[in-house]
Amino acid sequence: MPTSICPECDEEVYVDAESEQGDTVTCEECGAGLVVVGLDPIELDLKDEDDDDDYGEDKDYDGYGYDDDRY
Ligand SMILES: [Zn+2]
Repeated sequence: MPTSICPECDEEVYVDAESEQGDTVTCEECGAGLVVVGLDPIELDLKDEDDDDDYGEDKDYDGYGYDDDRY
């Protein structure tokens, strides 16, 4: 099984031998979604879209509470 280096954590990532350019793989080390961008040698790049666990991280900070101090 061919391997490449994860751009996120620099660990070896196993890539399916039949992968083609544009295929996605997941780094088993850090869980990053990676895209096959080159085949000879195999090169991986981070996927732009974050489709797993980023939901709601900014929601805690919404400005509530400011008005109360004015009275
Ligand atoms: Zn990784």
